Amino acid sequence: MTNSREEHIQIPEPDLDGMSLDTLAVRAGQIRTGQLEHSDAIFPTSSFVYNSAAQAAARFGGEEPGNIYSRFTNPTVQAFENRIAAMEGGERAVATASGMAAILSTCMALLQAGDHVICSRGVFGTTNVLLEKYLGKFGVETTFVSLTDMAAWQQAVTPATRMLFIETPSNPLCEVADMAALAGLARSIDALFVVDNCFCTPVLQKPLEQGADIVVHSATKYLDGQGRCVGGVVVGPSRYLDEVYSFIRSAGPALSPFNAWVFQKGLETLPIRMRAHCDNGLQLALWLKEQPQVAEVFYAGLPEHPQHELAKRQQRGFGGIVSFRVKGGREAAWSFIDGTRMISITANLGDVKTTVTHPATTTHGRLSPEDREKAGITENLVRLSVGIEAVEDLKADLARGLAAVQ
Ligand SMILES: *Cc1c(COP(=O)(O)O)cnc(C)c1O
Repeated sequence: MTNSREEHIQIPEPDLDGMSLDTLAVRAGQIRTGQLEHSDAIFPTSSFVYNSAAQAAARFGGEEPGNIYSRFTNPTVQAFENRIAAMEGGERAVATASGMAAILSTCMALLQAGDHVICSRGVFGTTNVLLEKYLGKFGVETTFVSLTDMAAWQQAVTPATRMLFIETPSNPLCEVADMAALAGLARSIDALFVVDNCFCTPVLQKPLEQGADIVVHSATKYLDGQGRCVGGVVVGPSRYLDEVYSFIRSAGPALSPFNAWVFQKGLETLPIRMRAHCDNGLQLALWLKEQPQVAEVFYAGLPEHPQHELAKRQQRGFGGIVSFRVKGGREAAWSFIDGTRMISITANLGDVKTTVTHPATTTHGRLSPEDREKAGITENLVRLSVGIEAVEDLKADLARGLAAVQ
């Protein structure tokens, strides 16, 4: 085996033209070195070397493509970006240090002082803080409206509106937005339509195909799927993503190669994991509905869910997030949580391990009581992120929790 520079060439990518998402998840975007490794190489290096001073100058000048420094580009990060771009059906993806960095970078690159954002009320709590407190400081104003109330979206529009931002389904109440309708509104006012696709992932819905301009992800959740790394990614057309990339390169929230490698491997099992999350989610939602200690179950897969038909049209599955109200108040909800003996008590979601959260005192604890009330985050609400354990074992553990509710 030699170690010459010439050996580290890339071999052509496999021809994946027209292939399905399941195949893209396993094959798209791999970068092979001259060692012809079957699995994905990892490049934990901060910088890259050149054959000559002239080559260094050409790289810096942009005349010759190639890596310079891992805040700009890194082959492992690019492999992850190319794979998720192929899966979302986007022209370009840019990875970020976290899901929040993906949202921040999108806003910083594509908004300016004086712009107005309309955002759905139930978004991830930190997204709320970012838009209201920090972007507000730089003259970007945000109006929060109900995810499912189209009239409210239309009424919130001002001449300065430049971005509509949603998560669908919402966390934790699983409301579903009509993406085609919101995309139509965005087009009619020349605003960007940004969708946080964390809960469905491209396996269950592809917002870009439904009219979204940009998709953002917390890769920390389902894309990793095993709770190992924090990261994010932005996907969309190059005319926007080039700007997002330029911001990340200047501001610095780039993804580390190690995390990118973990996410790249995570994507390989994403389709089969999502199917297992959906199967278990639906079975537990149906089961919970029958339990005497349960007052109400929130899951778009249930026929009585107000957006069930929309979810069926728009999604290829209903996902793994199931929320429900226990009969009683906070004490009942906490008794249920503490009564389980296998499920993890943690605010994280999207893991192969089932997790349970009390939103009112954790993920949504920073909201004022009035805002919590408006968002339907009551004291008796419990959120499950259903994992891929045997569904009978999950029912048994949930039954232990419910037995502890007085
Ligand atoms: C977790 C999460 C985020 C933030 O992602 P981080 O990786 O924690 O920064 C954004 N949106 C949604 C829907 C999330 O669940």
